[in-house]
Amino acid sequence: MRRITHWADGGPLESTTERWGTVYNPATGAAQAEVPFATPEETASVIASATEAAKPWGVSSISARTEILFAFRHLVFTRRDDLASLITSEHGKTHDDALGEVSRGLENIEFACGLAEHLKGTFSSQISRGVDVNSLRQPVGVVAGITPFNFPIMVPLWMTANALACGNAMILKPSEKDPSTVMLVAELLAEAGLPAGVFSVLHGDASVVTALLDDPAVSAISFVGSTPIAKSIYTRGTAAGKRVQALGGAKNHMLVLPDADVGVAADSAVSAAYGSAGERCMAVSVVVAVGEIADPLVEAIAERMGSLVIGPGDEEKSEMGPLITKEHRDKVASYVEGATAEGATILVDGSRLEVDAKNADGFFFGPSLLDHVKPGMKAYDDEIFGPVLSVVRVDTYAEAVELINANPYGNGVAIFTRDGGAARRFTAEVTCGMVGVNVPIPVPHASYSFGGWKDSLFGDTHMYGPEGVDFYTRTKVVTTRWPDPATSSVDLGFPKSR
Ligand code: NAD
Repeated sequence: MRRITHWADGGPLESTTERWGTVYNPATGAAQAEVPFATPEETASVIASATEAAKPWGVSSISARTEILFAFRHLVFTRRDDLASLITSEHGKTHDDALGEVSRGLENIEFACGLAEHLKGTFSSQISRGVDVNSLRQPVGVVAGITPFNFPIMVPLWMTANALACGNAMILKPSEKDPSTVMLVAELLAEAGLPAGVFSVLHGDASVVTALLDDPAVSAISFVGSTPIAKSIYTRGTAAGKRVQALGGAKNHMLVLPDADVGVAADSAVSAAYGSAGERCMAVSVVVAVGEIADPLVEAIAERMGSLVIGPGDEEKSEMGPLITKEHRDKVASYVEGATAEGATILVDGSRLEVDAKNADGFFFGPSLLDHVKPGMKAYDDEIFGPVLSVVRVDTYAEAVELINANPYGNGVAIFTRDGGAARRFTAEVTCGMVGVNVPIPVPHASYSFGGWKDSLFGDTHMYGPEGVDFYTRTKVVTTRWPDPATSSVDLGFPKSR
């Protein structure tokens, strides 16, 4: 069985651990590699070499850093097919979807290539008589990124591109379920000329994360994953005096007003609910249908579901692949199984999916559609993170907004309507961090920042874009005077600026 290594000091580091996890091919159910859970010694040595590497990197020129990022961008683009194949083999999403993920990750590198603009300080001449003030940004030092299984390259690049461009050393702890893509990223960074130790990969589970949270040499933690873990990471990391941005789970609603185009809304709901088997933090998991549009909308969604092709992600005809693990597939299935007893109607049951004999052991579950779902039912209250779309029927716009705003999550949300005024009002009233108007998955471009509200984000800064630059830099303000010795005197008064 292939054994995955860590990445430290510019090359692979074989682990001496006795604790190993299994990496599966979700389409076949076969174990394909073993991933090490780093020992405390390995973690300490990676932190030590990152600390050393951060010093020269932090004072290198912005041009030198962006030159490496330009080369890295070119390598990721050139190797996008290999990266997508790795993602598909361990995550299960279709090759096309994986290519989409790579291209959204490239956006973040492209943003970081132009970081000189964002790293500019400010300058005020003559703020007081003979006194000038300027502010400047400096890196924070060693930063750690902890990432989820569902975007094995995009989320690591949300963090890494800006962290490196700002002059930090980054230690990445990818998901143990699909850890290989980040290893290729590490190779490409080295090929692009990144000095040894500036980017490291440490594999493992909670114990590695805890070591990173507790080590005083790590200044900042970026986390993306489920809400309970995000919350505990935020609490522990901030208690240790670190900066923490911890993005959590989601329950993304798609509000459909009676005037919406039924076909457009149904196309969007199906695409956003079942793409990547619903394993996207911005997947639509609830359609909120207002008034009389509910019946035709549900009918149009069910009709489209009938023609979806479910199969291994490496087969060109597949539109949706398997789930990440057998345990997760069974958990997703339990929500559909329990829906009727809770009062919902199962319109399409994913457990009836038929797969080819060769994929019989794969972690497949078909797209499912539940109608007449209400808050208080498990299918509504929990983040299912699978291909299960719930329809909640309400009578008015006001009822819909109340429902959405009462949900503890606040990641993404979308409104479908032809009424510009209603859409504008909705964008102002809804308590979510990212809003789409006739856009079902409103993931912001890399030049903006990504983050939810409420239980979808713990911390003060969103991820990537300008807020990513704020997170990965500290500002310093310098006050300067070049006095004439002839006029200098002692003055015990508090410095005045007038
Ligand atoms: P997860 O929370 O199980 O794991 C995320 C990371 O935390 C992994 O690297 C994992 O090894 C580590 N981890 C697991 N248990 C830990 C513990 N007890 N202490 C410390 N670290 C621990 O999440 P997942 O299943 O990999 O990913 C799916 C979740 O991520 C969903 O909830 C999804 O909504 C969320 N997600 C959110 C966003 C966002 O931007 N808000 C983006 C992608 C995924």
